[in-house]
Amino acid sequence: MDDCIFCKIARGQIPSKKVYEDEDVFAFHDINPQAPVHFMMIPKRHIASLADATLEDAKVLGKILALSGRLAREQGSPDGYRTIINTGRIGRQEVQHLHVHVLGGPEPFGRMMPRSA
Ligand code: AMP
Ligand code: ZN
Repeated sequence: MDDCIFCKIARGQIPSKKVYEDEDVFAFHDINPQAPVHFMMIPKRHIASLADATLEDAKVLGKILALSGRLAREQGSPDGYRTIINTGRIGRQEVQHLHVHVLGGPEPFGRMMPRSA
């Protein structure tokens, strides 16, 4: 997708604070962090939202989840974290490229929702 901001970040066309990269996955810090550790994991291939994912996307989505613990520990969240996927209008998704938020830090933070209704 030519005009997708997260596709551009994954291609290095827009700068980001990179956390991790492989052939399928890109991870980078959220520009507006909601916790001491807050980064995003995205598939490099454009998927608009979790609601648009198909079984063809199962491998990369599984890879993102399977990598999240390692990256969270490396980023300073040693004892767990929250993963959040906002999906579509109802889920208040703002960037239309599937992304998994990883939020954590050295201590528990906040309550359940990252953003009030
Ligand atoms: P949402 O689509 O609601 O799950 O959230 C989109 C997230 O993307 C927000 O937390 C933004 O702070 C974050 N964001 C938007 N633009 C950038 C950017 N250029 N670099 C890093 N994070 C971004
Ligand atoms: Zn995209």
